[in-house]
Parts: sequence; structure tokens; C-alpha cells
Amino acid sequence: MRRTRVRFAPSPTGPLHMGGVRTALYNYLYAKQRGGDFVLRIEDTDSGRFVPGAERYIIDSLRWCGICPDEGVDENGQVVETPSPRHPHAPYRQSQRRGIYRQYAEQLVASGHAYYAFDTAEELEKARAEAEASGGTFIYNHLTRGTLRNSLTLPEDEVKRLLTERTDWTVRFLMPEGRIVEMDDLIRGPISVDTATLDDKVLWKRADELPTYHLANIVDDHLMEITEVIRGEEWLPSLPLHYLLYEAFGWQESQPRFAHLPLLLKPVGNGKLSKRDGDKMGFPVFPLRWSSPTGETSRGYREDGYFPEAFVNLLAMLGWNPGTEQELFSLDELVQAFSLDKVGKSGAKFNPDKARWFNREYLRMRPDEDLAALWLPMLEEKGLHPDLDFLTRVVALIKERATFVQDFWTIASYLFIAPSQFAAYGVKAGAASEKPVDPARPVDPRAKVWDDAATAPFLAKDVDKFYKPEIFCAALEAMENSAPDTLEEYIRSHEMPVGKVMNLIRLALSGAASGLGIADILGFIGMDEGLRRLRYMQERLG
Ligand code: GLU
Repeated sequence: MRRTRVRFAPSPTGPLHMGGVRTALYNYLYAKQRGGDFVLRIEDTDSGRFVPGAERYIIDSLRWCGICPDEGVDENGQVVETPSPRHPHAPYRQSQRRGIYRQYAEQLVASGHAYYAFDTAEELEKARAEAEASGGTFIYNHLTRGTLRNSLTLPEDEVKRLLTERTDWTVRFLMPEGRIVEMDDLIRGPISVDTATLDDKVLWKRADELPTYHLANIVDDHLMEITEVIRGEEWLPSLPLHYLLYEAFGWQESQPRFAHLPLLLKPVGNGKLSKRDGDKMGFPVFPLRWSSPTGETSRGYREDGYFPEAFVNLLAMLGWNPGTEQELFSLDELVQAFSLDKVGKSGAKFNPDKARWFNREYLRMRPDEDLAALWLPMLEEKGLHPDLDFLTRVVALIKERATFVQDFWTIASYLFIAPSQFAAYGVKAGAASEKPVDPARPVDPRAKVWDDAATAPFLAKDVDKFYKPEIFCAALEAMENSAPDTLEEYIRSHEMPVGKVMNLIRLALSGAASGLGIADILGFIGMDEGLRRLRYMQERLG
């Protein structure tokens, strides 16, 4: 039995999509379950698509998720460049392995599986235009290769001359004719493809002395002793070529097994989940915030407030199911439970509500003290410095209503500062439709910050209807004469209208008509501050 070795082989062409993170995760789970190795290899041979910062982004994203490569990246998160016992196949960046590939391309030419092609970019463009003019498309394949400028059509001495004189030739794979390639996929089962439908792909380019994806990928998977290739469905069309390359090299014995993962689909409609869907519907498609070199930014799960555990869990469930009702899995539990035979063949629809549900569940599982510690810096940014114990007690009371730590402020800002806006009657605190209570300037929690612009119309329009002067008197009396937990009792025993008085008190305290219990609010801000808020409202009314 060979030791299980899988790899994640991203190209640093931009931020890693959540689908890419899922590919990395499934590889990681597969390897860890078998006590094998998870290798990170950077496939950066397409210099035209290289994006500065993308490699760092990939590594940071995996780290955030807790998906740590065994090989390819060192403790400091650097891609390893020189071989060592732990990283025997270094370098792991294909651009730094460029010297390796040419001999393999030449080997295929020598064995008749590949050939040199000398067609210039202009010649290929012309062939393309001609094909299109007659309603077809140009393909470099068994039908056209005999009419093009390559080592199959040119005399040998001409080929020799061109190889030394020109620097723009390529090596192309000689796609065999009339063959059915029989393949096997661990998720999809047997697949067969007729080679007549395939073209002669470029394997190596003299211009930059670099292999294309196909050659580099096969050579490196072979040299790095990869046993299973688990990757996205978009690579399925390349599979016949990859099979044929293993055959051409005579490496069938050690050829890895393949598993192509289903696509992540849009929440509504058909098609691949894209950044545009996220922008439109308000969810991220990238693990971390990304700022492109051209200044374009994209939101990330981390910055949106997701816990990495929740993100990993929701990704795991997009395409895989455990075969039971269980939905919440830690990374270790996933390692135990994961299996490729429970990965679906068809695309997995992304559901942003479900994603939030996962975070809510993880938030509830987090100890209150941890959540308070995560919340504290956000409050400090607003100039507030509450004590951690106080914060932990607040968290215990409100965490059930929150999805993200940043929701705590929306739910309970009035425990720290007097409200600056008043929600009209019937608007629920913390509901999506509520305007966040977010005063522009941080204030002393004792200070009264009534936002006149927001308050005035409310007071003028609604207060007469609901809160008559006698209600104010009743509320003040109750506040002056009772404790938070006996407030209601006091109002009742003095035959005042309980509902109206309580609503007024709540509005004065919190700025909203619903939310935390009045006794709870008063327990945090104290009766004095409560009275102050109520008196202020009364003053405003004259
Ligand atoms: N470099 C390819 C990518 O960007 C890797 C495909 C594979 O895993 O073979 O996804």
C-alpha cells in the first residue's frame, strides 16, 4: 500500500474562491483520515495570469481555516524553496521548478507522443479567422495538424534550424486518433471519451521556457508521488489528456486516482457561484477580504464575522453529506466522517441563510467569556471601555439573538450609551429592518445623547397617541419607588396601565419598542441612569 499523498495545487491568479477552499478542505480531510500527507503546490507557470499577493492570500486563507499543509509551506507560512526531510520535493512553486519540465517535453517528442509546433501567433490567428469565416472553429488537432507548420509536416533539417533560430515554438501533445480513453473517477465512476473530440494541447513553451498547466501538473504529481487527485469539476475535460500523458510517460503503474468535485452553484437560478451573486445578495464568496493590486476589494467571511470553524463546517456540507442528520462537525469530526463516496455528483447550491445559520450555531456554542473578549476590541474602537465581567454578563443575555459578534452592538448598544434614535412602535430591535443604533461620536455612557433630528418627529407624531403626560408621571413614580425586578408589580399595584407604562419606559431606556427585558436593562445601566433617560424624555416633551 502506498502512503496517501494528496495535493492542493492552486494557481495564484486572484483571491481563492470558497470553492477552492472546499477543494483544499476535502483533500486535507482525505489525507488526515488515512494518516497521509497534504501537499500545497503553487502552480504559477502562466505568468500572464499571475497576480501579486494571491499566493499569500491562499496561504493565509488556509491558515485561517486551520487547514495546514504537511508539505510545501513552512511554519512561517512561506512556500518552501529548498528540499529538506520534511519538504523533500521542494521547491513547491512551479516557476522555481522550470528546469525540470523541458526534458519531459523532449522525452515525449522523442517517443513520438508530442511534436514541435512553429506556427506563429499571427498564423494561428489567421487559421482561426478563416475557420470562423466559414462558420467553424479552428482546433489544432488530427484534422488540421497536417496543414500547419510543425515537426510532423516540415523536413527534419528545417525543424532543426527553426528550433535553434526561433524562440517562439512550442511542444504539442500528439493526440492519438481513433481511441476511446477509458477513465475512472472516484465520484463519477467510469467515464469514456473519444480522442477525436480532443485537441493537441501545448505542453511546453520555448518563449518563457515554461510548461503549461497540463505538463507541469502531471510531472509534479508523478514526482511528488501523489496518490489521489481531488479537484474541481472544471478539470474533468482535461482528464483524458492527463490519462494519455501518464500512458505516454509509461507511468500508469503509479498514476493517481482522480476525484472531480461538484461545482458550487448560485443560490437562485443556474450556474457557478460567482462574486457577482455575493455582491447582489450580500454574502462573501472569498474566505478573507481581498484588495486587488488595482484597488478593487471583495468582502471576506472572516471580516464579515464568520468563525473559521463555521466556515469550514458549512463548506464541508456543500457537496458532501455524512449520511446522517448531523450537521455540526468540528474539523476533527470531519476528518473521521468524511468520505468521497458521499460526495454528490451534481452541483451544490449555496444557501446564504444556511451559512448564517452555521455561524449562529457556532456563536451559541462559544463560551460567553470568549465572545466578550472578541467583542471588547470593537467597543474600544468606539471609545468604550467596559469591564470584561460586565460584558460577559451582557453576552449571556443577548447571544441567542445574534448571528455574529458584531450584532451584539446592534442588539444592546443602549446598555453602553443612551440611545440616539427611536424606533417607531412595533419595530423589533435586532431585526433586519431596524436602523442600527450607531451614534457618530462615542460618548460617556452616562451622557444623554438624544438625537433631536430622529427624536423630534417621533415625539411629535406618536407620543400623544401612546404616552400621555399621566403615563410619564406613572413611569417616573414607578422608577423612583421600586427596584428593576419589582417595577411591573409596583405599576400593577398602583393601578396604572402596565403595558403603556412599561412600553414608555422601554422606549426611553433603549430607543426601541421591543428588545431586552426592562429589568435586565435596568440591571445593567442602573436605576439612576434609567431615571435620567426617562426625565430627559419628559423634558423634551415640555
Ligand atoms: N492549478 C490548477 C488550479 O488552479 C490545479 C488543478 C488540479 O488540481 O489539477 O485549480
